[in-house]
Amino acid sequence: MTSNIYLTSANGAPIAEDDNSISAGERGSLTFDNYRLFEKLAHFNRERIPERVVHARGYGAHGTFTLSNDLSDHTIAKFLQGTEKKTDVFLRFSTVAGGQDSGDFVRDVRGFALRFYTEEGNYDIVGNNTPVFFLRDPAKFPDFIHSQKKDPRTNLPNPAHHFEFWANNPQSMHQITVLMSDRGIPKSLRHMNGYGSHALSMWNDKGERVWVKWHFKTNQGIETLTNEDAAKMPADGIHADLVNAIDQGDFPSWTVKIQLMTEAQAKQYPTNPFDLTKVWPHSDFPLIEIGQLELNRNVQNYFAETEQVAFSPSNMVPGVGASPDKMLQGRLFAYADAHRYRIGANHQQLPVNRPQCPVHHYQRDGAMAQGSACPFSGHNQNAGVNFYPNDREEAPKPKPEVAEPPMPLEENAWVRAYDSRDEDNYTQAGALYRLMSDDQKLQLIGNIAGGLKQATESVQKRMVQHFTLCDADYGMRVQAALEV
Ligand code: NDP
Repeated sequence: MTSNIYLTSANGAPIAEDDNSISAGERGSLTFDNYRLFEKLAHFNRERIPERVVHARGYGAHGTFTLSNDLSDHTIAKFLQGTEKKTDVFLRFSTVAGGQDSGDFVRDVRGFALRFYTEEGNYDIVGNNTPVFFLRDPAKFPDFIHSQKKDPRTNLPNPAHHFEFWANNPQSMHQITVLMSDRGIPKSLRHMNGYGSHALSMWNDKGERVWVKWHFKTNQGIETLTNEDAAKMPADGIHADLVNAIDQGDFPSWTVKIQLMTEAQAKQYPTNPFDLTKVWPHSDFPLIEIGQLELNRNVQNYFAETEQVAFSPSNMVPGVGASPDKMLQGRLFAYADAHRYRIGANHQQLPVNRPQCPVHHYQRDGAMAQGSACPFSGHNQNAGVNFYPNDREEAPKPKPEVAEPPMPLEENAWVRAYDSRDEDNYTQAGALYRLMSDDQKLQLIGNIAGGLKQATESVQKRMVQHFTLCDADYGMRVQAALEV
């Protein structure tokens, strides 16, 4: 070897020998002073952190968001003001149900989690490649995911469980129609759209709020695979496609669009605009183009970046906010909580999670307090005072100008569990069915029947009823396919 870089142990000291452990004699057993060997083995045992329960299999890349449409009428967020303004981003795609060792070309929703490293902190839009989701209430989320994961006895996938959950939860009908359509298996991550899916919000310097939905339309065009084509693809093909495209300078990009709804419009709109199982029809809320998203740099280290990146819808910046979407509210808690468990209380200090602006707060210590959440602010906030309020002139203090306008509540709201199971589960699923081409309908029905045939007769019957309520032709064709 010609390198003049010397191997060291983790404490930085050069290592004289790393091929052989120390033993008592050539054929003798190892001795207790093998601290080099012990360090290697002990660290190796600790290489894994808990994989995400959902979105475990991920693919990440860095890029740039270029704003083309000044949004200062709607928001004080600096990254959305001016034109040609550029913001660094990190995008993590994923599958949802499978573990890290599952395949790339499965029929599943794809995660589309986007971080904007803005000058005022990190803003995460933690979306999917579908505009809606299976649920409108987070109370159902663990049950839903259990039904999609492997059977607890056999540890094998079990489509009967998928449909048993759905038969009992028709609020999933819209998302089932997307998942079972041709778009359920993207040909590549470059050839699919992303959606923020939730109603989010923006607010301006006059204290006016608008509700917002984000759309990321692929500039590569939508391309999908049939089940048969997907089965022929290599297990890691989607990942390889993304890495290779970026390495070769063929940078994938998306046109970024938003839909806006005023608070007054939301109050009058006939369907609940905060229901994650529904879209806002384009005819009522047209798409407004605001910029371009480009991925142009692969990660240097998969674990440090893609595995440890910790997205959360609770990462917001002044000028953007949440909404009364119940699924979003559940995620505001659950995502940050997952990262505290997986990575630790100081996960935002890791390089991929660090904001690109100074971070000043009174949180201290904890496992792996390696410095501040940002290089500007020093180690564990250096010698800074660790309580608030205090008498120090130089100490961090709140900035009242960035207070979000108060969130409206329904008048005379009564606190209780509201049953939304019958909240129009069918109209938009039917609308999607009707806009499909004959070929798309054929694929949809075939994909549904393939899984549904494995469910019980009772589940099949209820599912056909649900499809019929979406669209009579839809139900009839699923029934006919089950009988073949
Ligand atoms: P529009 O006719 O204005 O929009 C239809 C949308 O459907 C287009 O954006 C199109 O995406 C998308 N689409 C087409 N095929 C599929 C598919 N197999 N899976 C998912 N999306 C597909 O209609 P509306 O806005 O009135 O919505 C009608 C239905 O379209 C909705 O019920 C919903 O299912 C679906 N849809 C609506 C969206 C919205 O935000 N309004 C977003 C995505 C889907 P593309 O432009 O990429 O071809």
